[in-house]
Amino acid sequence: MSSQSRQIVTAFQRLALFWRASQWQVAKKLGLNPTQGEVLARVAARPERAADLAATLGISHASLSDTVSALDRKGLVRRRPDPDDGRARRVAATDAGKVMAARMPEAPAALEDAITGLAEAERGALLRALVLIIRSLQEARAIPVQRMCLTCRHFRPHVHDDPARPHHCAFVDAAFGDAALRLECADHETARDEEAARARVVFSAMR
Ligand code: SF4
Repeated sequence: MSSQSRQIVTAFQRLALFWRASQWQVAKKLGLNPTQGEVLARVAARPERAADLAATLGISHASLSDTVSALDRKGLVRRRPDPDDGRARRVAATDAGKVMAARMPEAPAALEDAITGLAEAERGALLRALVLIIRSLQEARAIPVQRMCLTCRHFRPHVHDDPARPHHCAFVDAAFGDAALRLECADHETARDEEAARARVVFSAMR
């Protein structure tokens, strides 16, 4: 590993430690553990299938089931039939769960301030690099595929001449730049493998 790569790995380790400690503090104040806090935050935004939750969080189905049962006992979530699949169940937040989720900050205030303090071009460059790293990990099957632009059938990378907004989202029919790339998008629709591979090549090649 090059010295530069080692420094980047060190940066990820520091941020991961900070994130984990912050999550513990927030969850503890609410009487939850961090995994319970993360599941509650996700299903408060919209109900999700248990299998999708386990894959996204990188935990086993058994751990997810224990977590959902614990949240259910606290009256914060319920398992409901999945309208799209008679054999599947979705996990949904109750009203009490939504109220509790609203008390959980999206990110530690210090981290939010640090990111806000970057220039837009710096945020764009950082987001672009993170998107590429995450996509590489997905391609290596090290982490699950997410609802991100690079795997979305609506994503058209580098189709506009404007260097500030070179990409296009066909869903909202609008141009956007690297700083607006999405890693989690409710409107995401999975691209075919060959479409996603082509988008990745075009996105990576142009800077
Ligand atoms: S629908 Fe969402 S994920 Fe898809 S290209 Fe548009 S912004 Fe990106």
